Amino acid sequence: MSHDHPQIPITLGPLDRMSEHGQQTLGLVLGAAGEGCMACAEDLLDELTEPAAVGRLVEITRRTVAQLNDGTLPGALTTGSPGDGEDFRLLVRTITEAADPAAAAAQMPTARRRAASRTAAAVLASYAHTSHQAARDRAAAGTPTLADACLAQARLMTTWWRHQDPESEVHEGWRRASGETDLRAADGEQGAVYLLGAVFHALAQEEGIRDDIHALPYTRALPLIRDREAVVRIVKKFVSPPAQETTGTAVKRLAIDEPDAPAFVVLRLWADLVCAAHAAACCYQGPDHECTLRDRQAFLAPYAHAAA
Ligand SMILES: [Zn+2]
Ligand SMILES: [Zn+2]
Repeated sequence: MSHDHPQIPITLGPLDRMSEHGQQTLGLVLGAAGEGCMACAEDLLDELTEPAAVGRLVEITRRTVAQLNDGTLPGALTTGSPGDGEDFRLLVRTITEAADPAAAAAQMPTARRRAASRTAAAVLASYAHTSHQAARDRAAAGTPTLADACLAQARLMTTWWRHQDPESEVHEGWRRASGETDLRAADGEQGAVYLLGAVFHALAQEEGIRDDIHALPYTRALPLIRDREAVVRIVKKFVSPPAQETTGTAVKRLAIDEPDAPAFVVLRLWADLVCAAHAAACCYQGPDHECTLRDRQAFLAPYAHAAA
């Protein structure tokens, strides 16, 4: 193997605090690990101790793995016995819970930050190998993940419901409750879509559904939506698709920090109303009938444009 690895440019957001040296080192680590060369990455890790750089490395690793795993994170990245990889997993969970990984890394002594970086680089390097080529091709082609499909379905159902019940008191309830939240008043529906999509995603995983989201028996989402603890647990662990990250961060912060706040109660009520309205409107009602998303497609098709 040639050890002439590229240096990946690092772009900084307005809130990022990373030195020039940190950016350069991180770019070199990413270049080596991205080509599967742990030896070269390893040589650089002693230089990579800045909390912001460590946080970013874990963030990039987490996102790369999620993209290559149909939008979800393998369990090994989030849970495991204490010891090997624990500091890395802690930072991955921090990001999924919409908190700042740089701040969490700053709480760790240098040796633990280095351990987290080492695990992140090793995970990235392992994903660079050809066994993941099919997943890489899928990700490169922009194939929607299960999470994308669940959110799209939730959006379509929510749009349909808005047209059925434009005067719903949930809109007024949201206007009153949302003042203090990061979701501005107009974005209540996006928050409800996110919450419902996250619940669909958890249900799909429970039901072993990966490809055909239309087989999802969505009425089974209702008991989950009505169980506050379940919703908090689901939202906290849901891996946001990149396009939904802003809404996702706001909903996660509500779920984790203020699950009893009126704004979060309204979001759950909203998702509940959308889901229950679809069950009530289903025309296939019968003793053995179980509503699936497929039942709804004929009704929803005219709203696809409005939901896009
Ligand atoms: Zn190398
Ligand atoms: Zn039905």
